[in-house]
Amino acid sequence: MGLAGYIAVAIAGGLGMLFGIGGYLEWRYYRRRDRAVEWKTQPGRWPSRAARRKELLLGAANTVGASVVSGWFAHHVASGGASSIYWDLETHGVAFSIATTLVYFVVTDGLLYGAHRLLHRRFFFRHIHRVHHRWTSPTAFTAPAMHPLEFALYQSIMLAPLFVLPIHVVGLVVVLVYQNTIAFLDHSGVALGSVLPWQPPPRFHDDHHVHFHVNYGQTLGVWDRLFGTWRRAGKAYGADVFTEDQPRAGELVDYRSAR
Ligand SMILES: [Zn+2]
Ligand SMILES: [Zn+2]
Repeated sequence: MGLAGYIAVAIAGGLGMLFGIGGYLEWRYYRRRDRAVEWKTQPGRWPSRAARRKELLLGAANTVGASVVSGWFAHHVASGGASSIYWDLETHGVAFSIATTLVYFVVTDGLLYGAHRLLHRRFFFRHIHRVHHRWTSPTAFTAPAMHPLEFALYQSIMLAPLFVLPIHVVGLVVVLVYQNTIAFLDHSGVALGSVLPWQPPPRFHDDHHVHFHVNYGQTLGVWDRLFGTWRRAGKAYGADVFTEDQPRAGELVDYRSAR
């Protein structure tokens, strides 16, 4: 398969995930607007038609742009170009392969947290990250809807370790699919639970879109706990203009019970 083939497959995969997961959630939840209190994180808030159209177009455009880069990278690796990805499990053994997959996941998730916090500094927020925060009641289609530079920054974080950290191709694919699926679900606006103890449910990132300067984590909750950015009930976070029923002010919000 030539370069064009790799790019075509990457675009199909990217758009397939976006419209597959987003479309499923539309069908499963969003057409039940009359019963929003039962499933929606913010039953009283809905994005306008214009906002929905914009998230769809911007999200799809970013996905296509990033897929061109991913397709190029896959072609580069497949044709023997420099990278630290390996195919043969016997090269390093199973334990090593699992360990470096976990290292890849934790390191990139930590870097995504750091990059996201940096984007909340006044200058970067005004010029770049503000675009993504246009959506205060996000849907799955909001996940890739952001300034293209922000998308490129996140993609670079995922790509850079692949030149230094030895990682088995299956581990890499598992992490990428997992991270992307969570990004869609975290923006879904659907009050789903989380069965994974290290990962807060969608309401956690949904609150990031309501309160802005809080809950920066992508998949792991540990970064916000470690660096004191986990949302505290009743505390104002700059753009905290929406009120809701809250437990005692100052306590860390328990997202497992706050469904
Ligand atoms: Zn978001
Ligand atoms: Zn943000």
